[in-house]
Amino acid sequence: MSAAPAVGRFAPTPSGRLHLGNLLCALLAYLSARSEGGRFLLRIEDLDVPRCPRALAGQAVDDLAWLGFRWDEPPLCQSERTDIYRQHFERLESMGLVYPCFCTRAQLHAALAPNLGDREPVYGGACAHLTAEQIAERSKLRRPAMRLRVPDMDVAFTDGHYGPFCENLARDCGDFIIRRSDGLFGYQLAVVIDDALCGVTQVVRGRDILASTPRQIFLLKTLGYPVPEYAHIPLLTDSRGRRLAKRDRDLDLSALSRRFSPEEILGLLASSAGLLPEWRPVTLESLIKDFDWAKVKQADIRLPEI
Ligand code: GLU
Repeated sequence: MSAAPAVGRFAPTPSGRLHLGNLLCALLAYLSARSEGGRFLLRIEDLDVPRCPRALAGQAVDDLAWLGFRWDEPPLCQSERTDIYRQHFERLESMGLVYPCFCTRAQLHAALAPNLGDREPVYGGACAHLTAEQIAERSKLRRPAMRLRVPDMDVAFTDGHYGPFCENLARDCGDFIIRRSDGLFGYQLAVVIDDALCGVTQVVRGRDILASTPRQIFLLKTLGYPVPEYAHIPLLTDSRGRRLAKRDRDLDLSALSRRFSPEEILGLLASSAGLLPEWRPVTLESLIKDFDWAKVKQADIRLPEI
């Protein structure tokens, strides 16, 4: 990554106890920043307060500390930053880029082409050109979500791990939600504001978010913020090749911390990712010196039977 002093971060959503997939991301984000002598920040993405109870946020912080992670500033909680998101939202509104969308979940679903496969659904634009009267009329019935209007523009960047990536905003993403109908600000908006205001220079996260990155770059540039470097990482699967999810309780830290020490868990992750030849106990700090992105696998990582 770049020669400027790095600022990395880990930004979990605490809707469940951290699992090995989250921890792989924390590990690589930490090693990437620290191996450049950089700073490391922790951000709790608990915007969706009903799904992310306080206790789970606190548990995530404790779990990371137990594993040996240290951060250079007090952890930031998105649930406490609504005013900051609102100010940015209003700036985007004043640029004429935001419009209300009254589509219900069912309408959005019905408008989708079948066989999308893995691709994210692209919004068809049903509410993109409503008149003031239509907006007033529909507002009586339901509270709208707010979408950001995107141009027909290619956004390209080079991922630090997967290489060149390009999307056309209008064709591949569509106008996207920056405030939900329940009033909560959207992930895409909050994440870029926080990364920008905290001076984050490198974003390391799962490849499931790769396709959000052009939207985030567009938002950053529109708001006049610098664009960080991005490195997306492979996803972790269980020993049968199934993607880890919050429901896999046996691979989350409540179960793992009863069976393994922090050093054993770190060794499991480091060896699975390609940073160690075999699974053995290691400290976080001992992995910094030899960290190299070139060693990290690109294909999804299958955990051994544990
Ligand atoms: N909060 C997101 C997650 O837990 C990660 C967001 C990001 O790293 O940009 O999947």
